[in-house]
Amino acid sequence: MAVPHAALDAFLRAVLVQAGSNPAEAAIVAGHLVDANLAGHDSHGAIRIPTYLDWAARGMVVPNQAMQVLRDTGPLLAADGQVGYGQAVAHAATLLAGERARQFGLCALALRNCGHLGRIGTYAELLAERVLVSVQWVNTSGMGILVAPHGGTERWLSTDPIAFGAPAPGGNLVLDMATSASAEGKVSVARNKGAALPAGQLLDREGQPSTDPNDLYGDLPGALLPLGGYKGSGLAVMCEVLAGSLTGGGSSHPDNPTADRLANNLFSVVLDPAAFGQGDALGADIARLVAWVRSSRRADPDVPVLLPGEPERSSRAARLRDGIPLDPATLRQLAEAGAKLGVTLPSPLREMADA
Ligand code: NAD
Repeated sequence: MAVPHAALDAFLRAVLVQAGSNPAEAAIVAGHLVDANLAGHDSHGAIRIPTYLDWAARGMVVPNQAMQVLRDTGPLLAADGQVGYGQAVAHAATLLAGERARQFGLCALALRNCGHLGRIGTYAELLAERVLVSVQWVNTSGMGILVAPHGGTERWLSTDPIAFGAPAPGGNLVLDMATSASAEGKVSVARNKGAALPAGQLLDREGQPSTDPNDLYGDLPGALLPLGGYKGSGLAVMCEVLAGSLTGGGSSHPDNPTADRLANNLFSVVLDPAAFGQGDALGADIARLVAWVRSSRRADPDVPVLLPGEPERSSRAARLRDGIPLDPATLRQLAEAGAKLGVTLPSPLREMADA
């Protein structure tokens, strides 16, 4: 079931406006979600909307919030997202950090207390498009605690995503990944599809390995495993320090005051290559690096060596052309969420949901 991206975007914008967002905010949040679908990350796309609307109704995310700047020394910005839609608040904060990096050569941004920030690579992409290099570290205190530390069995840490972006000729490099073996949203997508998870991603409530996505949910849920054992677990802990402790949003812990909701905190560093004397040289060196990495003898002759960000670019090209494949369960959830606000799923999405 391939959904035209423009129809999905219009529907999401309409429900967000009905839920209290002004049109500008609705456009940013809907655009972010649809782009996540286009990029192939359905886990961070339209599937999130029913939850966001539920949170908005319960005050767990507040429409039309602007970040409150707490500290501003020029190249250092600290701000509070005031429980606003993460995509909108972080979009504005990222653009500001980009301007500061252009002015001062670099900018460190500490942004705490946002709603879900969505696909973190979006912010790295936004900056790479402006010829800036960046890193993002995010933690999810409160309801986002889902991951067992290496050697543990219960959910203790968040999925602690990290992203890196660099402008590059022929396609920007964007590494964007959870430090858990799977992002939670991918487990949710598998559950909607009735699919099993790959082995090595999940423990059930008894701490035993599981491939059943349902084991992450319910009254006695299991836990995601960290990516790559102690290395992913260590990255997650440092993510908690940078995004949680340093921003003031707090690391994952039941005593965190945001324990009853999902709060995303972001620590980002933005660098202007020109300020490092690498304005022209950066692109040339990255082009050489990309060609070198690609030239590695393939493990499988039919599978090319890819660079970070390439799968998302290929997916965007295909899905802009062919539409976004959404499963009927997700479409029905969108239809139900829209109906509660008096927004009807447009044709042909409605027929697809009923099929
Ligand atoms: P993933 O495993 O699909 O991709 C990780 C990275 O690897 C990407 O940069 C991708 O370009 C690259 N990649 C993928 N296949 C490749 C290949 N064959 N060769 C070379 N590079 C390749 O990502 P994930 O860890 O499942 O995360 C999914 C999304 O979830 C991300 O967008 C992340 O930001 C998001 N997320 C958000 C939160 C939050 O709280 N907001 C939490 C966790 C994850």
